[in-house]
Amino acid sequence: MGASFFDDPRTREELAPMGRSYHVDSDFLARITMNVRNARSALLLPLTLAVSLAIATHANAQEKTEPAPAAIPAALIAKVNSSVDADTARLTAIFKDLHQHPEIAFTETRTAAIVAKDLKSLGYTVTEGIGKTGVVGVLKNGPGPTVWFRADMDSNSVREATGLAWAATQPQRLADGTEIDVMHACGHDAHVTWLLGLAKAMVDMKADWSGTLVVYAQPAEEVGLGAQAMVEDKLWERGFPKPDYAFGLHTAPLPVGVVSSSPGVRMAGTDQLDITFTGIGGHGSTPQMTIDPVVMAAQAVLSYQTIISRNVDPQEPAVLSVGSIVVGRDNNVIPDNAVLKLNLRWFTPQVREKMLTRIDEVNKGVAVAAGVAPDRMPTRLMKGNAGPLDNDKALVARINPSLMALMGEGKVLDQFPSVMGSEDFQEAFRSLETPYAFLLVGVAPPEMFAKAKAAGRQFPFSNHNPDFFVDLAAIPIGAKVNTVNALSILAKQP
Ligand SMILES: [Zn+2]
Ligand SMILES: [Zn+2]
Repeated sequence: MGASFFDDPRTREELAPMGRSYHVDSDFLARITMNVRNARSALLLPLTLAVSLAIATHANAQEKTEPAPAAIPAALIAKVNSSVDADTARLTAIFKDLHQHPEIAFTETRTAAIVAKDLKSLGYTVTEGIGKTGVVGVLKNGPGPTVWFRADMDSNSVREATGLAWAATQPQRLADGTEIDVMHACGHDAHVTWLLGLAKAMVDMKADWSGTLVVYAQPAEEVGLGAQAMVEDKLWERGFPKPDYAFGLHTAPLPVGVVSSSPGVRMAGTDQLDITFTGIGGHGSTPQMTIDPVVMAAQAVLSYQTIISRNVDPQEPAVLSVGSIVVGRDNNVIPDNAVLKLNLRWFTPQVREKMLTRIDEVNKGVAVAAGVAPDRMPTRLMKGNAGPLDNDKALVARINPSLMALMGEGKVLDQFPSVMGSEDFQEAFRSLETPYAFLLVGVAPPEMFAKAKAAGRQFPFSNHNPDFFVDLAAIPIGAKVNTVNALSILAKQP
């Protein structure tokens, strides 16, 4: 094809200085002409042109996403501050009430009712009961993009040990009559409060933005099934305005006043799965007449640990944890089956596949060695699943200048390390490929954080622990972060 665009020794940057595009660049037109001249046959001409133009269009599109985003006007940030500050007493009361009434996955009926009532009173169009307890509120406010904001509602089965005046003290009675300890140990009560703070502030500031705001409360994040449940309950077939962008927040034991808004892969993908070994039960005194599932389970747990250490590439992060072994009851009875509850964390589908394949092979190997019949081989039940959380780079670049203006110098971490923790937030948007940003909001008192650091600990407490708590000073901050993110997309151009 002779000399082509690809042969030019200059870099793309040199060929396309800031603010210019290949399209109208005389240098680029000269390049096409050169390609045309050098093409050896007429047949090659259209191809050469097509390739050149395709490159031009692509480069142009890339540049269009690259202008350095500016912060929203300072006057708008001042309005966010005064709107949320005026609402903080109400939000704090909501937060304390939610905290005292935690509800585990798919039982969040009280929380959902509070969300629905509040959104209705603010003028949102509200739909309830999506994926059991999910709530969607829509506020249309003129032409413009549609932005979705999510809060998850569920709590953990943990017994609270904070000693706070608003601590949860009552166990939760489940539908089957059993009672469990229950606590908001992951801060989803704060997420809901922040969502309601956003909903109110955006109503207050209706004159300052144009577009559609959708706020929604999701069930069952902790079991990794809530987002999926909403999608399976036709979330995207109900006529809601489709998202151009989506946002979520999560509490983190960082100091209050610090936010992580970082691009790229932030959190690992995860799977929850149950393995069942079927043996042959019998009397504890006659093991030779049984196939013991306790022994099979024990062997499997140890063999699983070699999957990470021996089969997965050491440069690829992965976790395999067995969180529960359910087998037997009595000292002198060999039971007939064992259930192992596993959790996986991974960043690539290849590592996930490798782990699942090896789990199956270990299970089969253990069962064959124990003499299990071919028709009673171990089974694998896949439960919750979520892919890695991958923040859209352009979206993060767009919101961060405004967040920095809101939070102050050095308070927005844009290179926070990714973690093996997981989320199912992104699963709601998987089929739509919506660009999203999921941010972490500090909820630990700064002096407590500093003390822990000085003592050599990374964090003063961690999510899911009985001593986890959200400093009340963080209540207005999450609402403001949400609102500034919304305005970064929806604010009217001055
Ligand atoms: Zn959690
Ligand atoms: Zn959580």
